[in-house]
Amino acid sequence: MSKKVRCLILGSGPAGYTAAIYAARANLEPVLYEGLQPGGQLTTTTDVENFPGYPDGVTGPEMMIDFKKQAERFGATILPGRATAVDFSTRPLKVTIDNEKVIEADTVIISTGATAKYLGLPDETKYMGQGVSACATCDGFFYRRKKVAVVGGGDTACEEATYLSGLADKVYMIVRKPYLRASQIMQERVMKNPKIEILFEHNAVGLFGENGVEGAHLIKRMGEPDEEKVDIAIDGFFLAIGHTPNSNIFKEYIELDEVGFIKTAYPSTKTNVEGVFACGDVADPLYKQAVTAAGTGCRAAIDADRYLLEKGL
Ligand code: NDP
Repeated sequence: MSKKVRCLILGSGPAGYTAAIYAARANLEPVLYEGLQPGGQLTTTTDVENFPGYPDGVTGPEMMIDFKKQAERFGATILPGRATAVDFSTRPLKVTIDNEKVIEADTVIISTGATAKYLGLPDETKYMGQGVSACATCDGFFYRRKKVAVVGGGDTACEEATYLSGLADKVYMIVRKPYLRASQIMQERVMKNPKIEILFEHNAVGLFGENGVEGAHLIKRMGEPDEEKVDIAIDGFFLAIGHTPNSNIFKEYIELDEVGFIKTAYPSTKTNVEGVFACGDVADPLYKQAVTAAGTGCRAAIDADRYLLEKGL
């Protein structure tokens, strides 16, 4: 058993690193475990142009290196390792790292993020960063006056398609059912948009292109007697079939919503367990932006500091 930690941070996206910066500056001597994907989801994007403070843009991985350096400069300890189990029924709180090491902590900040769902096509991996994206707000700008497709028929897909229609010349929505699942208002918005064409009852089965995505192979009415192969020419392929919050290991103790996002007591980042705070995408069903994640990371560190002070820890 290692020495007790005052502030243990799980996850290393903008939320986790910002929490580490603030906690370190408040002398909480934070220890941050990076998780499976050091740097989080931003490491899978290319240029980030909407984070204030980078007037010329920055790549996602570079920005995460900057965040990490800043946290280390103030004394945060950043370690490789993934939380694999927790016991929040005892004090101090207990977190198991990589199924082997148990860390005791007075406070835990959960910033484990969310994982965008993909269809699971080999071509999604092949063209990752070369036309395949799961974030229109991050990458849409690169498709100005181009053709793109959004997969999905929920609110996220409608929102992404609407956003992209402000940039691209043409937006296809690839919807596997004969109807949209999105709320009425979002459905009306996409139906009325002349730049958006909804391909109902279509499934994407592959992508093609020499240097990046140039098109998608679709199947209309897949599995039906009249199924038909359809190819569309596109430059960008956006997935909007949902995100999975990385909250599974906490569910025995921490209150989650029906999708799995951690519930926090707004405006704080407090969860239902004293001393446990949540920030970033794991607790954000709405905004999912690097800058909003960083903001909640700051709040979580301040909440942890105040809690420690109140409890005299
Ligand atoms: P949803 O689960 O609501 O929708 C996912 C969509 O992707 C569905 O159309 C689903 O199709 C489709 N899909 C899922 N898997 C596949 C697959 N393997 N192949 C093809 N299509 C697939 O997710 P969202 O992210 O859209 O929304 C999540 C929650 O967040 C919802 O409650 C939503 O209302 C909410 N939200 C609200 C917003 C707002 O109010 N502004 C904005 C964004 C989200 P099918 O219908 O066939 O299952």
